[in-house]
Amino acid sequence: MQPRVSFLSLVLAATALVPVARAQAPNPFFQRGTPTFVRGTAGEERTDKVLAAQVELIRSMAFPTALVVDDKSIDVTKGASAWPPNPVLYGSNEHNAVLAALGNRLPFRFVRGGLEIGARSFSGGDVRLIACIPAEKDEGNLKGWPEFLVYAGVGPMDAQEINSVRHGDLNLLVIDRFGPLVGGSWKRDAKGKLDVVYGPVARREAWRNSNAVDRANPRPVFVHHVQLVPAAPKDEEEVSAVLRAVERAASRLLLERFDAVHVYVHPDRKSKEILTANGGDGHTDPASRTVHVIAFDAAEGGPLENLVTHEVVHALTVDAVGPMASSFLGEGLAVWASGVYQEKPLGEWKRELAGKAPAVAEMFTLFRKLPENVAYPLAGLFVDLCVREVGWDAFKQSLAGASASSWAAACKSAGTSAEAIDGAWAKALAKK
Ligand SMILES: [Zn+2]
Repeated sequence: MQPRVSFLSLVLAATALVPVARAQAPNPFFQRGTPTFVRGTAGEERTDKVLAAQVELIRSMAFPTALVVDDKSIDVTKGASAWPPNPVLYGSNEHNAVLAALGNRLPFRFVRGGLEIGARSFSGGDVRLIACIPAEKDEGNLKGWPEFLVYAGVGPMDAQEINSVRHGDLNLLVIDRFGPLVGGSWKRDAKGKLDVVYGPVARREAWRNSNAVDRANPRPVFVHHVQLVPAAPKDEEEVSAVLRAVERAASRLLLERFDAVHVYVHPDRKSKEILTANGGDGHTDPASRTVHVIAFDAAEGGPLENLVTHEVVHALTVDAVGPMASSFLGEGLAVWASGVYQEKPLGEWKRELAGKAPAVAEMFTLFRKLPENVAYPLAGLFVDLCVREVGWDAFKQSLAGASASSWAAACKSAGTSAEAIDGAWAKALAKK
């Protein structure tokens, strides 16, 4: 349950002493000035929606004054002057028309279910890229482009939740379902063409599938244990806890079917940290439908089951309610669906947090600034209240995908008003 957006703190923590002309990495790039988000609209409807929601999540949280434009608004044949200031592109060349138009001139390409970049290629539907692409000058008839950032991935979910991956000062970072895979920096070859100097590749291990999954299962869940640790009877208990958890989440979300979900049960915190660069209890890589958890107590209704119930909601969110554009509602949905936070039922949290809840508008903006053990249970209670107020269908259709700036309109389309929800929220969390 780690913060799902890490780069904001990095932006805020970094110094301002960077050259203005060339940023070369995402964090200094964001420091140069307000970014313009360029969302890909060339994919399937679901992909376009995921990219739009991811852009809105980042914009509303970190850059509320930033403009968002569609990829089709940029005519790359007119050169760098046709681009908006500080462009940040979301979506691969298969989903973003700007990258598609630049084609083979770019130093990277998503193709045939993988990524080709520099002299290397990476295969797999879980491969993603965060990169700062250097500016290119005009060459004869070929027009150049300004320096830009790109967040992109292979699969239909493309760059979903990609901003939760830490990328540090790297020019480029390749990510897989386990997390950061390999970083690199740009260099020019003798002909001036961009190539990549790669750093060390992160450690990856072989995993075994610990359960049999019927091909006809409409809700397939694959549970994995690391090969290095010999199979033991407790694996079976963990498989059962994971399967109970996914059923709990799916029934709460009224999901009858979904594409395969993968749950990796790490033997301990240290292993999880080494293999995913994330030492938290559990985290999800929703774009690859992958959940990583530490092997906690697998008892019925116990810590492992509760943790997986929460995490798998993040992997099932798009199937259940469509892409979400705020951490507040995204975490709220996961806490609500699991019904507990830190092993304590939401009802108990409601009594404990009475009189301590900020107004709804503040919940959106302060969510990542509040202590997690206040923000998360409040978010779960808020989703519970919304579902009670407007019903599941209206919550799903209108409220779930809202951000701070679209909340009032979303309430209206759900048949209520922001004021009515505010009132109900204040009443529900009033000091008793
Ligand atoms: Zn979560």
